[in-house]
Parts: sequence; structure tokens; C-alpha cells
Amino acid sequence: MKCTACKDEAILRIKRHHVAFCQKCFIKFIQKQIIQAIKRYQMFSKKESVLLAVSGGKDSMALWSVLTDLGNQITAIHLDLGIPNFSDQSRQIVQRFAIDKNLPLVVFSLKEHLGYTLPELQKKIPRPACSVCGLTKRFILNHYAYHHHYSVLATGHNLDDEAATLLGNLLRWREEYLQHQSPCLPSDYPGLVKKVKPFYTLTDQEILWYVQQMKIPYCDSICPFSRKASSLDFKKALNVIEDQSPGTKHYFLFHFLERKHDLFPGKQPNGILKNCSLCGMPTTQERCSFCSVLETAQNKSQLFIGKDDIEL
Ligand code: SF4
Ligand SMILES: [Zn+2]
Ligand SMILES: [Zn+2]
Repeated sequence: MKCTACKDEAILRIKRHHVAFCQKCFIKFIQKQIIQAIKRYQMFSKKESVLLAVSGGKDSMALWSVLTDLGNQITAIHLDLGIPNFSDQSRQIVQRFAIDKNLPLVVFSLKEHLGYTLPELQKKIPRPACSVCGLTKRFILNHYAYHHHYSVLATGHNLDDEAATLLGNLLRWREEYLQHQSPCLPSDYPGLVKKVKPFYTLTDQEILWYVQQMKIPYCDSICPFSRKASSLDFKKALNVIEDQSPGTKHYFLFHFLERKHDLFPGKQPNGILKNCSLCGMPTTQERCSFCSVLETAQNKSQLFIGKDDIEL
């Protein structure tokens, strides 16, 4: 098998693009995909400070590494969720990488700042763990980015994640979520920071190859709550189809993104936003979901989410 770009011996094949690459050309291919994604959606410039959410998994570690290599101004933030047999390992990998590469990193501990680990919080809330975790992470990351003056918040969501989210939203016909799904959500209300996903054109497998080739450390432990996550079922279903017909995930997601505005003309992505009566952050309700969760957990959200209270 020959490299499509330089004709040297290839080490891997990307079926959906009908190409094979040697190590050097594969790394260039990944970098080019990121550069094009950032440019296509005008995600950020090299002058902007980007806050990058780093869980310690392969996607966020790869994105941290590649964005830094490309000369972007990245500060990583790691949320320590306090999940037994998972969070300690993730945090240690992230911290070691930051020290080895001399990169800025903020570690935000849920227990320290909210008074609860994620499992402790979830026990008090009648919702699935991933739902509580998702809304907590979204709130804290946006809140931190906003109050520390980052104009952009980046995450390591990849093509598989986005295709699985799309399938889930279509199966339940969640129009509001479909309208909202994009690799780049602009800051369209005070307090909402622009969100970007520079890996949305790359698959799980391609990112795994990248971390292996670049010898980027990552946490391969699986969160114990993930077994119940429906997104895993959607990923599995899409992988079965992809095996039979390479390129299906790519086609599914990209054609949706191209046609989204025709499918949902004139709809406001965020509905009617106002400020949460407790924390002041944007919400469509009287109180934001995060404050409601903290209230249900019999806490006083004001104690924890004032600007100064999460200063690190
Ligand atoms: S699997 Fe669920 S609980 Fe675990 S980190 Fe992911 S979203 Fe959070
Ligand atoms: Zn090559
Ligand atoms: Zn609130």
C-alpha cells in the first residue's frame, strides 16, 4: 500500500476518503483538516485566547496537542468530576502533559467548588448521571470562560460524536436541538461564549491513530456511567452502517450541516433568552438548569457560582 500523497510506504488507509498515508503525510492531513475546519467556520484566530475543555480522553488530548503545535493560544481546563476509579487517572494524565509541555492548565474540582462530586450530586437528582454531568459541565465551562474573558470555548467532539448526536436528535425529532447543532455556535447573547468543535471532520479512529503516531498520552479508562449513555448505542448503530458503507457518517453529518438552515428557516437557535434569577447566566427559564439542579440538591447555588467563588 502506497501513500497517496508522497508514494512512500503507507501505514494506514482512510476508506471514506479513498486515501492511504505514511506517518508524515497522515500528520499533515490531520493538521490540514483542523486548519480548514477552523477557517470554514471562522472559529478563532491565532490572536484569540481559547479555553479548551480537556477531559484526558484521546480527543481532547489530541486537540490540545495539535492546536498548540499550530501556534494557537490555548489554556486547557480540566473538570475533576470526582468519579471513583476514573477521575484521578484522568486528572493525573492531564496535569503531567501540561507540566511536560509547559502548557497553561486550570483544574476545576466539583467537590471543592460545588460541595459535591458528580456521583454525590447525581444521587440527589432524579436524572441520569450523564444528563446531570452534561449540564454541569456546560454551565461551568461557559461560566468560567465568560468570567475569565475567553472569547472561545473549544471541545474535542469529533465526527462520530456529532453524527451520534444528530441521529439521537432525529430519532426523537428534537427540532430545537437539531437547529442548535453546529461545529461553531456564535456568542449571540451576553454571557454565552462562542463554542467550537475543531475535530468535527475527524473520526474516532483517525484521532486514535493520531495520538498513537504522535505518542500523546491519554486516559483510556471508561467512565462507569457511560454504560447507560444512549449516545454509545447510536455510535454502535452508525458503525455497523459505516462498516458496510464507508463514508456514511461523513455524508450524514455534512449534508445535515449544509441543509440545516433550509430545514429550519428563521428559527432562533436559543429561543428567548433571559438572565437566571439566581446566577445571572443566560437561560430560557426563570432559573437556569444548573441552579435548579443545585437547588434540588438542597444547596444554595448563590454560595457557589458567584464570579469570585470559582476564581482559581
Ligand atoms: S459518561 Fe456521562 S457521567 Fe461519565 S463523564 Fe461522560 S457525561 Fe459524565
Ligand atoms: Zn506520504
Ligand atoms: Zn443559574
